Amino acid sequence: MRFLLIIADGMADLPIRKLGGKTPLELAGAENLDMLASSGSSGLMHPPLLGGSPSSDVAILNILGYDPSKEYTGRGPLEAAGAGVDMAKGGIFFRCNLCEIDREGTIINENVNLSPKIWTKVEVRLNSALSEEFEEHEVFFKHTHSYRGVLVIRGNRVSPNVGFPQPRRFKRIAKPEVATGLGGSPSVKAEVEKTAKILNRFREMSSEIFASYSSGSRVLEIIPWGGGTCPRFMDFSKKYGIKAAGIAGVPLFKGICRLCGISVVEVPGATGGPDTNTLAKAEGALKTLQSHKLAMIHIEATDELSHKGDLEGKIEMIKKVDAMVGYLLDRVNLEETRIALLPDHVTSTELRIHTEHPVPVVIAGGGFPTDGLKVYSESSARDGGLCHFLRAELIPTLLRR
Ligand SMILES: [Zn+2]
Repeated sequence: MRFLLIIADGMADLPIRKLGGKTPLELAGAENLDMLASSGSSGLMHPPLLGGSPSSDVAILNILGYDPSKEYTGRGPLEAAGAGVDMAKGGIFFRCNLCEIDREGTIINENVNLSPKIWTKVEVRLNSALSEEFEEHEVFFKHTHSYRGVLVIRGNRVSPNVGFPQPRRFKRIAKPEVATGLGGSPSVKAEVEKTAKILNRFREMSSEIFASYSSGSRVLEIIPWGGGTCPRFMDFSKKYGIKAAGIAGVPLFKGICRLCGISVVEVPGATGGPDTNTLAKAEGALKTLQSHKLAMIHIEATDELSHKGDLEGKIEMIKKVDAMVGYLLDRVNLEETRIALLPDHVTSTELRIHTEHPVPVVIAGGGFPTDGLKVYSESSARDGGLCHFLRAELIPTLLRR
């Protein structure tokens, strides 16, 4: 038997009053997702909450069966691994967002995108300035995808336990914050101070370089957050006894795959945006199944459109996911292939944030029991045969004979 796992980032939503209490998923008329529900069983998975609403990194690790409360070291190293940074050389890794900030330090936009041409120029100028500025440490920035990048700091006496808070619209951003619960020994204090100095200077330098691209009273700055050292995850193939591969447009999912020993398959046209070629991803997954037992597809744009509050865009993107599932269903024998589909977390299009609500899961094919449900949605999954997943039980359930 072969297995497909589809993760549609932030596809689940909350009921929207102006739409008669329906969710975008319920409004999309996703026939192929309903077909999956009719052919299998549904349930609700609760994403892990590590001190607030669920983030994609933590939720995806949980889906893959890793315990984020024990194994997660930060967003930065996952993004860096996905961007092809040599993790074996060590160091601390920060995720970066390009932000637009007013003169008072309030974030106006935490997701500023620029053309790849400008990003290339900025990256070269910034890295040459960084290597002149820091002699004791290797400090460099790598643009990854859209408004995202990573900052790498290598050298002695630096700490991953300090960084700017994750940038959020309309929040003020002042100085790097230190993780709570740190011992106050002089050596720890010195590491934290040294790192905070580097992070502050990096932010200032990015602002100086972006000055020529900023307008009026607002400035552009790269804000580093989510710092950490490289985590050590158990190899996925050792954990489950199967070879797996992942297809994604965004570095985060690729990074998680690389660090878990899951092959990353690059598919042309997988952009991570609404224009991503979902059918090429499906095609890539089918080819991958010739050499791997499990192929995973990650779709990012459902989340990004939710953060923009773009309801119509989200519904269109769900239709694209539905068409991708239709493409797969037309080409696989459901008796020999088992498919699981779920969002990693709920992203509310009205609130533009992730919420802690559970997400609908469906597993179908390969003799998986059917529960009689005919629709795939947030409310329908409550009555599904899989009931509630309280822990990371998805992969063992998917692989169950
Ligand atoms: Zn999100």
